[in-house]
Amino acid sequence: MEPLVVVDHVNKHYGELHVLKDITTTIHRGEVVVVIGPSGSGKSTLCRAINRLETIDSGTITIDGKPLPAEGAELARLRADVGMVFQSFNLFSHKTILQNVTLGQTNVRKRSKADADKRAMEILDRVGVANQANKMPSQLSGGQQQRVAIARALAMDPKVMLFDEPTSALDPEMITEVLDVMVGLAKDGMTMVVVTHEMGFARKAAQRVLFMADGSIVEEATPEKFFTDPQSTRAKDFLSKVL
Ligand code: ADP
Ligand code: MG
Repeated sequence: MEPLVVVDHVNKHYGELHVLKDITTTIHRGEVVVVIGPSGSGKSTLCRAINRLETIDSGTITIDGKPLPAEGAELARLRADVGMVFQSFNLFSHKTILQNVTLGQTNVRKRSKADADKRAMEILDRVGVANQANKMPSQLSGGQQQRVAIARALAMDPKVMLFDEPTSALDPEMITEVLDVMVGLAKDGMTMVVVTHEMGFARKAAQRVLFMADGSIVEEATPEKFFTDPQSTRAKDFLSKVL
């Protein structure tokens, strides 16, 4: 398998707090990796570091063989290559759904408005919200907004998609519609890093689970193995609480 995201001996501190401790892992092209672990273990920080929303103190992160750029147009392109979906949707509230999905395409990918509109409508259709294109985000349900957020990232033709607890802010009845979109993406071969406690998603879509605790990767296994036969005390403890 071809390495796509290579995280090599990465450390990060927030002041005294050592939040990423010598993290090393490789995400291969087409692979779906679920990151799971207690609150405060560094999962979001790891995702944000991969997207360079956070800097790191030491170690390296490369995407498709290239180190993360520090700033400017190259950084904007990196963020397009590494799509990110947050717990809190983060749509532009004063723009329509269609504008949300075209903005990055025209600004960063330099597509014409017509091309961007066409691509946006295809992707909105794929995530099941094409009929909402001219509405404002606040007029959509949480599940619909999150699917738009996924569409916005996908419209940039990312090499990898990062999801940071994408269903945690959703009412239960909306979780499935978002997970279904994600399972579809996984089936289509998208490379994905997904922070989630949704075991069903992990079992259906992931090749690998990374269990993080206290800033370290404590355990790495297939979903089947991890959920039925965790090895570390930390993982056993954690699973007894969430499952
Ligand atoms: P997780 O996503 O696993 O819950 P985070 O990566 O959000 O964990 O946070 C890891 C640790 O870093 C936590 O103890 C959190 O309080 C701390 N932290 C996160 N962001 C910041 C920040 N901007 N400044 C200081 N501490 C932070
Ligand atoms: Mg988090």
